Amino acid sequence: VNENHNPSAPHSINLLLYHQVGDTPHANTNLDCFCRTEDFCSQMEFLSNSSYKVISLSKATELISSQKPIDADYVVLTFDDGCERFYDITFPVLESFGFPSAIYPVANYLGKRATWGNVRTRELRILSKNQLVELAGLQVEIGAHTMDHVKLTTVSEDDAIAQVLESKNILEQLTGREIRSFAYPHGAYTEETIDIVKEAGFSNALTCVSRAAGAAESMYEIPRKYITYYDDLNAFKQKLL
Ligand SMILES: [Zn+2]
Repeated sequence: VNENHNPSAPHSINLLLYHQVGDTPHANTNLDCFCRTEDFCSQMEFLSNSSYKVISLSKATELISSQKPIDADYVVLTFDDGCERFYDITFPVLESFGFPSAIYPVANYLGKRATWGNVRTRELRILSKNQLVELAGLQVEIGAHTMDHVKLTTVSEDDAIAQVLESKNILEQLTGREIRSFAYPHGAYTEETIDIVKEAGFSNALTCVSRAAGAAESMYEIPRKYITYYDDLNAFKQKLL
């Protein structure tokens, strides 16, 4: 019995959305996109000792697409942008707990500093190609997150198609694996965006709509809950409910 599970609520899949995990945020870091290593470790430890089952993204999308009632409380760990610190800070923690994960690197920025968005994101370094290839051979699924982290709802249709399709192709060439999952940058999408992602050959897409996923989700609008700097262990537990 999961003591954290509200008995009146059905079981569900909590897909959690992280960006950067690190020891100290830079002065300009967007704290909504930062989780302290210490907090992250206690969150993982909590999951490990609870009856939540940490599963891979593939397993989760399989459960969702089966349309059967979800039979337990599941958690999926996802990391957007492909921050370099994932390699030396986040992954070793995940590995120590045996937890699978999914990362969504920005394909045009591998091995470079982020220059999208405002100055607050620019101290961020993105995983190198070699690091990404190494991670893809471990328990880390790779998904696409466009070439340049563009808000797909604000660019032309041609640009949106190129951003989505090229990121899939580049990551597939690099990793030798089929890239099946997409995460909308800034969580921005419309019906047209969904069509573009489907047409590109993705089998699912993740949003930033903050709630748990159930058995009847649209495969291209899978919700995720944001974990931030402000989430201490109690807040984290609350978010899972
Ligand atoms: Zn992003």
